Amino acid sequence: MVSRVIPVEVFDLVIFGATGDLANRKILPGLYRRYLSGQIPPECRIIGAARSAMDVPEFRNMVRAAIAEFVAAEKRDDAVIEAFISQIDYVAIDAKGEGGWSELKALMRPGVVRAFYFSVAPALFGDLAERLHLHAIADAQSRIVVEKPFGRDLASARALNETLAAHFSEAQIYRIDHYLGKETVQNLMAVRFANILFEPLWNAQYVDHVQITVAETVGVEGRGAYYDKSGAMRDMVQNHMMQLLCLIAMEPPYHFDPDAVRDEKLKVIRALQPVPPEDIVRGQYLGAKGTPGYVADSENPDTKTESYVALKVQVANWRWQGTPFYLRTGKKLRGRASEIAIIFKEPPHSIFDDAKGWHENVLVIRLQPNEGMNLSVMIKEPGPGGMRLTQVPLDMSFAEALGEDGADIPDAYERLIMDVIRGNQTLFMRGDEVEAAWAWTDPIIEGWEARDDKPRGYDAGSSGPEDALMLMHRDGRRWREIRE
Ligand code: NAP
Repeated sequence: MVSRVIPVEVFDLVIFGATGDLANRKILPGLYRRYLSGQIPPECRIIGAARSAMDVPEFRNMVRAAIAEFVAAEKRDDAVIEAFISQIDYVAIDAKGEGGWSELKALMRPGVVRAFYFSVAPALFGDLAERLHLHAIADAQSRIVVEKPFGRDLASARALNETLAAHFSEAQIYRIDHYLGKETVQNLMAVRFANILFEPLWNAQYVDHVQITVAETVGVEGRGAYYDKSGAMRDMVQNHMMQLLCLIAMEPPYHFDPDAVRDEKLKVIRALQPVPPEDIVRGQYLGAKGTPGYVADSENPDTKTESYVALKVQVANWRWQGTPFYLRTGKKLRGRASEIAIIFKEPPHSIFDDAKGWHENVLVIRLQPNEGMNLSVMIKEPGPGGMRLTQVPLDMSFAEALGEDGADIPDAYERLIMDVIRGNQTLFMRGDEVEAAWAWTDPIIEGWEARDDKPRGYDAGSSGPEDALMLMHRDGRRWREIRE
């Protein structure tokens, strides 16, 4: 299957924080890959900006090194790399200072799309927005891209929204949640709304429960002090997992249009019930075999931050009344796996004698590794041994299903940056969505603080704290296995 590459309009993209980790690992290599594919026209220009005093050749060398490290060898073509790099500029700018802005302004061309990627700490978003405006570099058509975290609670998210709104309209603001750029996540909408098969069953009458898992094998890896101020609830649940939940639970939008989709997602967030303490389990990984535990990694002996959280979430509306959504995410778990599993109810009556209690169909949407979908169905066990049933997977790995192109699924950042240039906000979070998500999250975190809640220890390499198993057992259900 050959996917068509439609070039985007000519643009000037300014990356603030161009010398940072995200720019080097994701943004710049991603832009190169889109250039290689032909999606970025050769007239486009990328301008790096950061405080570091660097000239253009030095910055270009940094981009060359980033491509060498983060782009697969078969995608590295010297001639294309040089052509791409010849379109790159650099300006030294301190977001909090006045130097460099006139140089930046001089580089901007009239009549092309202007986008500004704020790949810097959120504390600088306001400074950048203000100075872009003050120096008349951004116009009414310009777009700004802002990274996570978008606030650490409702009050700070609201303040950030107000700061950006002072200079940019909502239609100009692209709040990134890179989970929304994943091919599988977009496919979730395609599967639901472009097929007749699933939607009639997509409700509490037929869905027993939903499990959303984001499991990592790594710990906080040198970011302990930073992570300790956030924790799994703020770092994963409030944003990425909430977005996944919304895409599963939302009503069909009237059209695949940015505000129509985001209106439906917002309704889901507003329908989330408060979560009682008995429906949440928090954990911290323990040290093992000479490797440090979370307490040592966080460099905070009194830490009460969770590196794992599991919770049972209820969506209080007609469609989902009585169908719980179980969410869990954690670090240092036994496998690296992100998936959504829709567990359907058993048929109302079994005409077969065997296989009692596992006539369930499960639709699994795998985000990583190996993006794809899998629907488990019951069939007759092959052979003459009578009518025995067995469960088999109908497996669709996107890489296999899409042939050569499938093996080359663009990184989430690539897709999202192209959407910014296209002016399509569907896969970006709207300000009111982010605020609603914090409004639901805040009381949970405040409850922990008020009760001085201490997370339970769990073994590194395990499936998480024992109590998380109980969260399911109590309801007569069990978590899907996290594979190593
Ligand atoms: P980083 O490695 O610390 O890079 C920060 C960048 O900001 C550097 O280029 C730095 O360059 C620049 N900078 C710092 N202060 C500045 C100032 N006053 N004026 C102008 N530039 C300034 O951070 P990062 O990991 O790339 O993260 C960037 C943003 O993306 C953050 O909001 C982060 O939360 C978010 N994010 C990152 C990741 C990731 O995987 N890294 C994932 C999700 C979200 P100079 O020192 O040269 O100024």
